[in-house]
Amino acid sequence: MFVGHYSVGFAAKSETNKIPLWVLFIAVQFLDYIWATLVLLGIEKLRVIKGFTEGSMLDSYFHPYSHSLIMAILWSCVAAIVYKPICRRLGFVYTKSASLVIGVAVFSHWILDLIAHPRDLAIYDNTWKVGFGLWNYRDPEFALEIALLAVGIMLYLARNAMPAIRKGSVIAFGLALVVIQIGDTYVPRNPLTDKQTVMGVWVFYTLFVLLAFFIERIGSRRQTNAR
Ligand SMILES: [Zn+2]
Repeated sequence: MFVGHYSVGFAAKSETNKIPLWVLFIAVQFLDYIWATLVLLGIEKLRVIKGFTEGSMLDSYFHPYSHSLIMAILWSCVAAIVYKPICRRLGFVYTKSASLVIGVAVFSHWILDLIAHPRDLAIYDNTWKVGFGLWNYRDPEFALEIALLAVGIMLYLARNAMPAIRKGSVIAFGLALVVIQIGDTYVPRNPLTDKQTVMGVWVFYTLFVLLAFFIERIGSRRQTNAR
């Protein structure tokens, strides 16, 4: 699962919880940030094999600290617990429901990975591995990613009031994510090394976080001036 994860980020944002979209973008990929970091440190293991599954070259044969069910639950709780203190420290507004939303967003990553991954997600430690393996079916997996993203963006646009220019930018951002998913799923390429792959994860995910940050600022200056 790749861009499908962002559907949860878009869908979770509301006028009630007021969590910035960029924060939700970190939350939905939080487990992958931990994974990419641990692979870089040589603690978790990854093989990149051409044709490993139809939709992905990633053989994540050892990622118990970032992607086992028990750790996913733990990381979700940690994120939910630290969210308010971090907001307080940084002087950000937070609402009552925000911690729960953050926790659910972090955990959604594991559920969506469960659908796409082959049986490489451990229940605990590195044993009892599960995964429905939709990555073995390239077109249905791609269709699911895009459908999830579309629903997420529609919910985001429906639940949050915003100027037309920002609405357009959100849709353009969504289309860019579709293009990136097309590239990831369908454009043949030679496998990178494990370290290059997770560096790419860090760079791309962080780029999306920055874009989410700037998108929620589009059109807000004009509103402030008008007041
Ligand atoms: Zn993952």
